[in-house]
Amino acid sequence: MPLHTGEALVLRTYRLGESDRLVVLLTRDRGKKRGVAKGGVRSRRRFGGALEPFTHVRVAYQEHEQRELVRLDYADVLGSPMTIGGEACTYASYFAELLDEWAPDNHPEERLYRLGVAVLEALESGVAADRTARYFEYWLLRLQGVYPSIQACPQCGAPLRGGAVLEPRSHWFLCRQCASHAQGVSMPAAALEFLAEAAHVAPGRLGDLTIPGEALGPLAAAHRLLLVWHLDREPRAARVLREINP
Ligand SMILES: [Zn+2]
Repeated sequence: MPLHTGEALVLRTYRLGESDRLVVLLTRDRGKKRGVAKGGVRSRRRFGGALEPFTHVRVAYQEHEQRELVRLDYADVLGSPMTIGGEACTYASYFAELLDEWAPDNHPEERLYRLGVAVLEALESGVAADRTARYFEYWLLRLQGVYPSIQACPQCGAPLRGGAVLEPRSHWFLCRQCASHAQGVSMPAAALEFLAEAAHVAPGRLGDLTIPGEALGPLAAAHRLLLVWHLDREPRAARVLREINP
């Protein structure tokens, strides 16, 4: 069986029988892989702490042509949300769940991988988890080509600098004029400014952006709607986060 080594993000892990673990990995170069970590429940030597969701690891695994599951040889931690602790771990599970939803099996998707690693590093360097989450959602949906334009109203062409409304039927940001009769999430100008800057800034620099606290709430509400529209359900970890931060 050929042996592969490389970097990966752990997306999900669960117990398989008495002592093994099933691990879903987003590898940098070969896309999403499902593997078995033999003895993963107890073997601190080979897998100690490396199998938690959103851990950045260096892995070695063996792949058999006829089998769907690869066999994990070892995983070394390169970065971990466990070192940050607290809320960051819940956010990390949320990011891992969304990557798992969108990353295709066995198909390299390096931009998603790089987004995940950069966001983990931002959390580790102390960037606030809520603005990191808004950044992550924005980029995730952008990379899938489904984030609505934040530049101009698609109905009348007016620039959206002054604010917008996320219109639930079209899933677009409309100018306030066009949205005057529509229900939807009202986005203050500061939220759109944050997005415009986030398009050009690495997540590690998010701490430098000014975003008033009152702009983060509408952004979170708009992103929740966009995600539910595209996933047909609310991410599990998002519900947990909502219970923590009502
Ligand atoms: Zn308009």
